[in-house]
Amino acid sequence: MALRKYVVGNWKMHGVAADIAEIRAIAEGAKAFPTVDVALCLPSILIERAARAVPDLPIGAQDVHFAEKGAHTGNISTVMLHDAGASLTIVGHSERREGHHESDAEVRRKAEAALVDGLSVILCIGESLDVREVGEAVETVEAQLDASLPHGEGAAAGVPAKLAIAYEPIWAIGTGKVASPADIAEMHAALRRRLVAAYGDAGNEVRILYGGSVNAANAAEIFAVDNVDGALVGGASLTAEKFLPIVAAAASN
Ligand code: PEP
Repeated sequence: MALRKYVVGNWKMHGVAADIAEIRAIAEGAKAFPTVDVALCLPSILIERAARAVPDLPIGAQDVHFAEKGAHTGNISTVMLHDAGASLTIVGHSERREGHHESDAEVRRKAEAALVDGLSVILCIGESLDVREVGEAVETVEAQLDASLPHGEGAAAGVPAKLAIAYEPIWAIGTGKVASPADIAEMHAALRRRLVAAYGDAGNEVRILYGGSVNAANAAEIFAVDNVDGALVGGASLTAEKFLPIVAAAASN
């Protein structure tokens, strides 16, 4: 079944007030592609300004804490994200799993809290180069997915419409290296099977995005792969000039 394509920009630690003009340009340009869902995940401090500036473009966070409030210095809750105007959040990005030692169990708690509170979630998974080179990519990422997937109240609230999975091979993020269409097809098919095992038929409707050095030149080929329902885009999402051609490629797929 062909799902609506979903193209999400992850601005990481980029963006200040002056960049609201670029966010406006992305929001304006995205209107030309109404068959594609487009969103931007911004540094937390920009969320409120961006949400006010571009009310038609979903604005998200790059991480969230699972607790509603409390003694969690430096963290942000789902309630705060809503309050700022966010409608989605990334969880489990490899830069958080590696740099902040986030476990699958923690990622799962974050996803569940966000879904229960009505936020959409992009749950990231992906293997390191070492794992790919020893031929264990598929089983490693399947295990990561199984252990990170929301269950219980979170799944009931958000599956399938509000949950998306982003398969992002760590070695492809920000490196200019992209997994081959055959490797992406193998991984996404395996992930689809795991989603159906977890959620039954609803697993066929959870969108699986590819991420890792997606750009205007390679997007069409990636979107043509079975079970690729969109992309999570880092570097190439920072300007309308680079990001909109990726959205256009999703629209013409
Ligand atoms: C990402 O940040 O999730 C990502 C895929 O980055 P890039 O597109 O720059 O590789």
